[in-house]
Amino acid sequence: MTKPETRIAADPKNYQFDLPFRPEPAPLAETIHKRAWAVAGTVASLRGGPPEETVRLIVIHATAGSTTDGAVSVMAAGRASFHWVVPGKDEPAHGRHVWATCPERLAAWHVRRSCAHPDICDGANNLNRASLGIEVVNRQDGEDPFSDWQIEAAAAIVRYAWAKYPNLAHVTSHARLDPGRRTDPGVNFPWTEFMERVRGR
Ligand SMILES: [Zn+2]
Repeated sequence: MTKPETRIAADPKNYQFDLPFRPEPAPLAETIHKRAWAVAGTVASLRGGPPEETVRLIVIHATAGSTTDGAVSVMAAGRASFHWVVPGKDEPAHGRHVWATCPERLAAWHVRRSCAHPDICDGANNLNRASLGIEVVNRQDGEDPFSDWQIEAAAAIVRYAWAKYPNLAHVTSHARLDPGRRTDPGVNFPWTEFMERVRGR
């Protein structure tokens, strides 16, 4: 007799998977967000090398809000930045395309400089230089569900980047890198399903 499987609550601090091989190039349905793109140069840094060499990590975030505009306002205020926004369920872009909000060649400001994890980039800090950041619009209140399309769209970004950047090895949550301050993308983000979609079932 096998025991019924115990359901373990999702813990965003454990969200990580690594990318073992290089897939075929995958196109991405993205549209440049003009308002974000216009300010990106003032709210992102140089990587210290071309992205083809420096990008080793993708970080998944949730916006703790309900709109792309709300996330872009954080950029416009100079507080943080990220490379893509996956739009919310009630937005016209949902089901159509993701928003490109910062050029990939720049290091967006989405992880605190001091953050590090021994399983990621050999424990290095200053991870913005080595990473791409994806914001998924979600209230992150423990109730707001992510849509199926949002998970697929986030996975499509990872597949696109995985094919493009030869040193890209890790996909993780903001919570794993900054467990004292952050919980995103939150307990409702279906990490295992997301991983399976990235890797191909
Ligand atoms: Zn975050």
